[in-house]
Amino acid sequence: MSEHDGLNVPRVRVVCATCGAVLRPLDPRCPNCPSALPRTEYAQRRFVTQDRGDIFRFAAWLPSAATTATPVGPTVFRSERLAAALGVADLSVAFSGYAPEIGACNATGTFKDFEALPTLLYLREHGCDRVVLASAGSTARAFAYAGTTLGFATTIVVPETAASSVWMPIPPSDSVRLIVLADSGDYAAAIRLAGLMAERYGLHSEGGARNVARRDGMGTAVLEYARVQQRLPRHYIQAVGSGTGGIAAWEAGMRLRASGFEGPLPQLHLAQNVPFTPIHDAWTSQRPIEPDRNVAGQLERIAAISAPVLANRTPPYDVGGGVRDALEATAGHTYAVTNAEVHAAQRLFEACEGVPIGPESGAALAALGQGVARSWIHPADPTLLHVTGNGDALLKRDFALHSVPTWCRVSAAGESGALRDLDRAFAP
Ligand SMILES: [Zn+2]
Repeated sequence: MSEHDGLNVPRVRVVCATCGAVLRPLDPRCPNCPSALPRTEYAQRRFVTQDRGDIFRFAAWLPSAATTATPVGPTVFRSERLAAALGVADLSVAFSGYAPEIGACNATGTFKDFEALPTLLYLREHGCDRVVLASAGSTARAFAYAGTTLGFATTIVVPETAASSVWMPIPPSDSVRLIVLADSGDYAAAIRLAGLMAERYGLHSEGGARNVARRDGMGTAVLEYARVQQRLPRHYIQAVGSGTGGIAAWEAGMRLRASGFEGPLPQLHLAQNVPFTPIHDAWTSQRPIEPDRNVAGQLERIAAISAPVLANRTPPYDVGGGVRDALEATAGHTYAVTNAEVHAAQRLFEACEGVPIGPESGAALAALGQGVARSWIHPADPTLLHVTGNGDALLKRDFALHSVPTWCRVSAAGESGALRDLDRAFAP
């Protein structure tokens, strides 16, 4: 029996990360601090897990009461060979891709699968049945898959450079609509258009960093480490675009400590890919991120990185409960990793652990190497490396991959042109 049984306390509340005000679940904007992120607060304070192998093992700390049968969920293993190659003694890997030989069966090959299912279940629970979101690629795949498996009306906006990477291991259902921004590589433009569409066509905006279900889904990688090893990691290493994975790890760490786990919060080590490193630049120079400054120059740098999923011009950095707060609270570090370092790290991981990893995960591993070299990470410290995705090679080996067809291709030249195209497509 859980400690809140019999009491009139909701199983989860959404609160403001800055002032603690209780917020509306679907539109969680604080009247006192409008830019602050919302955060969940669970009535169940103890760390309890269910006897099942998927992400809903952690249902007590996911915001939807409903669950679904799914292969999606975090896998954590102790590394011997990679640890030896890096000269560290206590390394674990959270492997959130697809490699059934090591127990990882995430359907679209990245930790975005952890975000999509809890989000759609949470929206459905609150009476919402149509969602729109923007993506640079892997989020689109995960939501297309979740939308198909749950029969949820899901509209996804992607820049054209990402359109060919929207596929999944089952045939997409017609509940999924892919909107392609023609001749564009700008994720920020896709975000803007998704926002306009939400208002115009009565779709619920998925919310990105403001979506608590996404962050709590991502945080399950840290929860799985705690479940398996009955302790907190001293260090948590991940490559970031928006940085929300780092925020999620911080929040999971706080939750675990409040439930009785001892030791300091896991120290965040967040990696970005040179030459596009806005979070690293802001953190190391102690200056705000300026997403609208020299956009053409930023897009040029984005086009030059090996890990395109790390290209986010508008991360929730300088907001209450955002990336800067997470770095400050955990005495964290950021890293700038070159393409050559990314590729070398990808080769090292595959040589040591026998499975391929994606470039963003290569960036995380390269950052781990830098952290050890700078003595930010002591070789004896319990360390958790998050391999957030591993590409499509093993999915292609095991499945016929189905492209999600373009439902509407719209002009990226101006928003009015795009909306004209969409008005025609959405007309009854
Ligand atoms: Zn507030």
